Amino acid sequence: MSGAREQAGTRVTSCPSAPPEPGSLLIGVVTAPGQVAYLNPPVPATAELIESFTTAGVPVENRLRFSAPCMEHRCVQWNAETGGGRCGLADRALEKLAITDGPEALPHCGIRATCRWYAQHKRSACAACPEVIRKPAEA
Ligand code: SF4
Repeated sequence: MSGAREQAGTRVTSCPSAPPEPGSLLIGVVTAPGQVAYLNPPVPATAELIESFTTAGVPVENRLRFSAPCMEHRCVQWNAETGGGRCGLADRALEKLAITDGPEALPHCGIRATCRWYAQHKRSACAACPEVIRKPAEA
């Protein structure tokens, strides 16, 4: 097994760039552009927790990273054209950042065993991961 959980024949993978919604997991805090302090273990996100971070007009998505089960073909980022389907966001992020390798010491992330991006790109995904925010700043 590749590290992902297998449940009743269904491969369960985690999206590391999920929206901030109750039921998701808080997996990291953006500490600076391109830097994320990962939480291990992740913290279950409640409506109260998310609300507590909604301050100063800065989108929560710009300051925190959340994870939820990968929605595969129900996600706009899913690329079904490649064999079996892939997360197109991860592919594009690595291509745009010209990342071909990852760090020797991987971040102490709490979802690696099920991470969709890690499953696709191994440690290279972890080099791109801190660069990704869900909601680019307003111009
Ligand atoms: S890409 Fe790497 S650092 Fe980012 S969530 Fe997945 S396993 Fe963790």
